[in-house]
Amino acid sequence: MHKITFIPGDGIGPEVAWAARRCLEATGVSFQWDERPAGEGAIKQFNTPLPEDTLKSVRDNRVAIKGPITTPIGKGFRSVNVALRKALNLYACVRPCRTYAGVRSPFSQVNLVIVRENTEDLYAGIEFAAGEERTKQLIAQLTDWSKQPIQADAAISIKPISATATERIVRYAFEHALAHGRKKVTAVHKANIMKFTDGLFMETARRVAAAYEGRVAFEDRLVDATCMQLVLKPQDFDVLVLPNLYGDIISDLCAGLIGGLGVAPGANIGDGIAVFEAVHGSAPKYAGLNKVNPVAMILSGVMMLDYLGERSAARRLDAAVAAVLREGRRVTYDLKADRNDPTAVGTKEMADAIIEKMRTVKVTI
Ligand code: NAD
Repeated sequence: MHKITFIPGDGIGPEVAWAARRCLEATGVSFQWDERPAGEGAIKQFNTPLPEDTLKSVRDNRVAIKGPITTPIGKGFRSVNVALRKALNLYACVRPCRTYAGVRSPFSQVNLVIVRENTEDLYAGIEFAAGEERTKQLIAQLTDWSKQPIQADAAISIKPISATATERIVRYAFEHALAHGRKKVTAVHKANIMKFTDGLFMETARRVAAAYEGRVAFEDRLVDATCMQLVLKPQDFDVLVLPNLYGDIISDLCAGLIGGLGVAPGANIGDGIAVFEAVHGSAPKYAGLNKVNPVAMILSGVMMLDYLGERSAARRLDAAVAAVLREGRRVTYDLKADRNDPTAVGTKEMADAIIEKMRTVKVTI
C-alpha cells in the first residue's frame, strides 16, 4: 500500500489528475490517497494557494501527484509551483521526452531526459524593480565594482549558481542515467559568456563526470548550439543536465519535438521526496470541458510507479498509453490530424480507453 498525496490543482488540473488516478488504480497497485487542495480552490478555503496542511501531507507521505495550478497574477506568490518546489527542496526537475507512434511529430526516435536544476539561477526570484531606491543603490554599487555602465532605469535579476547545487544536480543526472540504463550525460551551459556562473556549472559538471568515467559518457555543450542540435538530431541526446532557466526553455523545446505539451510528463524530486506532475499548465480556457489530453499526467503517473518500485505496473500502463496513441482512435482533439475532428473523445473517455487497453496489452520492454 502506497500512501500518496493527491493534489488535483485547478483549471484543467482536476480532470487530468483524476484521469491519472483512475489509470493508476486500474494497474492493481494499492494506493491510499490523501487528497489536498492547492491553487484557486485552496484560496477560497484557506486564503492561500499553498496551505501548510498540503505541504505537511507531502512531507509526511514523501510522494505526491499533482495537477497543474494557475499562478494568481499579482497576488503573493510569484508561482505556486515554484513555491512548492522551494518549500520541499525538490531540487531536480526530471522530464523524459519520448516519441510515441501515433503522435504527430517531425521526429520518430526521440528518447531523452531533461534534468533541470530547480533551486537557483535567474529563477531564484531575486529581482530588483526599475526605478526603486534600492535598485538605484545596487546599480551604483555594481557600476563601481564592475566598471561596466548600467542604465539608471534598468531592472536587475540576480543569477546565483553554486558548486553545491550544481554538484547535486549533476550527480543526480548521472545516478538517473545509471538507474535507467542510459549511456550519456550532456551538461548544457553558456560558459563562454557567463564565465563565472555558467563557468562554475561547467567545471563542476566536468569534475562530477570524472567519477562516472567508463560507466556513463559525458560531454558539455553551449546552450545555443544545443538548441540547434536538438532540432537537427535529437536522437544524439540521452540525458541533459541544465541550470534552471535553460532547463525551463529546453524542456518546452523538447516537448515540441515529441508532439507537444499534451504528452510531456515530469517530476520534481528531492532527497527521498517527489512530486509528479505534467509539464503543461492549467490551460484555464479548457477547464471543465472534459476536452484536454490526459496523457502527460498519466505518464507522470508512470514515472511515479517507477519511483515507487512498481516496475511491472509502470510498464503495463506505459504500454497501454502507447497502444491507445498508436491506434489514434479514442484520443483527444489535439492528437487528431484535424483538431476539429468530431471523432475525438474527451479526457475521461481517453482514460477509459487506456484502462481497457491495460487488460489486453502485451508489454514488450
Ligand atoms: P498551459 O500549459 O496551461 O497551456 C498552454 C496551451 O497548451 C493551452 O492553451 C492548450 O492549447 C495547450 N495544452 C496544455 N495542456 C494541454 C493538454 N493537457 N491537452 C491539450 N492541450 C494542452 O500554459 P499557460 O496558458 O501558459 O499557463 C496557464 C496557467 O498555468 C498559468 O497560470 C501558469 O502559471 C500555470 N502553469 C502551471 C504549471 C504547473 O502547475 N506545473 C506549469 C505551467 C504553467
